[in-house]
Formats: sequence, C-alpha cells, structure tokens
Amino acid sequence: MLLVFILAGALWALGAVLGAPRRLWLSMIGFLWAGVVLLHLVLPQTAPLRLATGGSAAPWLLLGGFAAVVLLYRAGLRRVRARAVAGEAPKEQSSRAFSDAELERYARHIILREVGGPGQRALKGASVLVIGAGGLGSPVMSYLAAAGVGTIGVIDDDEVDLSNLQRQVIHRDADIGTPKVHSAAAAVRALNPHVQMRPYARRLTDDIAADLFAEYDMILDGTDNFATRHLVNRTAVATGKPLISGALAQWEGQLSVFDPANGAPCYACIFPDIPAAGLAPSCAEAGVMGPLPGVIGAMMAGEAIKVITGAGTPLRGTLLIYDALYADARRIQIKRRADCAVCGTKEAT
Ligand SMILES: [Zn+2]
Repeated sequence: MLLVFILAGALWALGAVLGAPRRLWLSMIGFLWAGVVLLHLVLPQTAPLRLATGGSAAPWLLLGGFAAVVLLYRAGLRRVRARAVAGEAPKEQSSRAFSDAELERYARHIILREVGGPGQRALKGASVLVIGAGGLGSPVMSYLAAAGVGTIGVIDDDEVDLSNLQRQVIHRDADIGTPKVHSAAAAVRALNPHVQMRPYARRLTDDIAADLFAEYDMILDGTDNFATRHLVNRTAVATGKPLISGALAQWEGQLSVFDPANGAPCYACIFPDIPAAGLAPSCAEAGVMGPLPGVIGAMMAGEAIKVITGAGTPLRGTLLIYDALYADARRIQIKRRADCAVCGTKEAT
C-alpha cells in the first residue's frame, strides 16, 4: 500500500519539478489509482499483489471518491470566480482588464472611493504626453507610471548632464551623456512594466506639435523656456487637450490646469507675453532648490490623476503658488480672457 503512495508522491514531485501541466500529472496519478482498483477487481483475494496493496478495493474507492469531490469543488469555485471577474469588467473594456499582479500593484488606489476599479481602468486607458524630461518631468513620469497610467509619451532633445542630478531624480549618475528621454524611459520601464513608454528624442517644434498632441489625452508641461511653453499652450488649445503646466524659480513653484474647453483659462490668458531676455532667468541662471521640482511635479501628477478619474476638483481656473522658503502656499483665482490671443472669443482691440 505504501508503495502506491510513494509512486503517487514521486509522480507529483516529478510534475512539480518539470513544471508539467497540472492536468497531466493529475491524470497520471488517476491512472495509477485506476490500475490498483482494477487489480483488486480481477485478481483472486489471496494474490500477493492484492494483499500488498491493502487486500480490498473499498479503501481505494473511498479515497478516489474523496479526491473526485475535492476536484469537483475546486472546478466549481474556479467557474464562480471567473464569472465574478467577467461581471465586474464590461466586455468592451476587456482590454483594460487587470491581471492579479496589477490588482495587487494598484490595491491602494482601488480601495479609494474616488478612484476605485473604474478610476484605475480609466488610468490604464489614459495616454499622457510629458514635455521635458527634467526636474518636473522626473516626478511627473515616476508618479504617473507608478499610478498605472497606460501610455506615457515624453519629448526632450537634451542629454543628462552632471548638474541635472541635484534635482532630476529619474536619471542616474551612469546616465550622464545619454538622451534624457531614453534614461527616463528605462527608469519608467523598471518601475512599472505595465506602462507603455514612448520616448521622442527631439525638440518640440511647430510642425510636429499638433500631430503629436492628437495622440494623447492630456499634456503635462515642465519645460523651462517660454517659447516652448507658448507653443505647447497654442497646440493644446487648438487640439482641445487639457494642459497641466508647472514652473519653478529658485524657491518658488506654481502650477495650474489650463483647460479652455472646460471653461478654464489657457496659459496665454495669464501670461500673454514672452518675457524679455533676462527678466525671467532660467534654473541654470538663477538656481533652484533640489526638492522643489519634486513638490510641484508630484502635484502635477496628482492633478492629472484627478482629471483622468474625475476625482475631486482639479486646479482649473486656479493658480497654486508654493513658496518653499516659508513653506507657504497661495491659491489665486484666474479667469479666461475674451481677448486672449490664443483662446479668446473676440478680436483683440
Ligand atoms: Zn487664453
């Protein structure tokens, strides 16, 4: 009798070690069991093989019956579970269905009342274009990727420089000299392999902007030059995409959700002109406190998640200014201008 159990155990272990399909080694154990039962039915009562395997078919039939009940119960459970999962996700969203690993990865989102399963599916279906893979782009991409935004594009023509690493935390020392978008894409893929990352190692120009923006649901701008900011704003308004824009100077940062399609002002309503050279120094000229882009960039990622999931009230029509030197934040209400050169409804006078 012991011999039969050792044989069954060996089949089980062999199946596990070889990684053979469960069905295969279960059916081999089934054959072994059927052989033993057959022995008891055809051999005379005193046959040595029959005596060695228990002497009677009854315990074997009982064991077989018990195993059949367990297997049937498990199959039933699997069917109920599969039906529950199919019921949760409508058929047209089956491409957005989550694997067990994704459900665990996003569990802290899914239990939030304002996000839940539908919000997390919206994040997976969303595509976001990030302009600039620098100080603001670093936390923006890291948090959007970690949060499960399905597609992230990033455009930047710069290479990682030693002086970037004081604040541009998506890049590593070993990345110095490589295009920022490639270093950022590698970091995002290492963080969350479920995210589709599209790096564009080039400068954003007028001739490509509209076609590029059309492929995304929203734009996050973290560049530090005004010509690009205005180009991004013009294109976002023309293509009807919400623009989440952040900016930094020394110890102070600001952000807003520019979205004229939903009644909010555009960037040019608030900052109509490109400042004269020298009046608005860049980070390289004026300096910037290292964690500041982390604060503002994380807030931009948070606003993007709110716009995508519909949670809370995004910063539409509000400019949030954070002063790190005094740990002070101010909210300024901003309005759409009818004579705005970009989104205005009447001719400028
Ligand atoms: Zn405007």
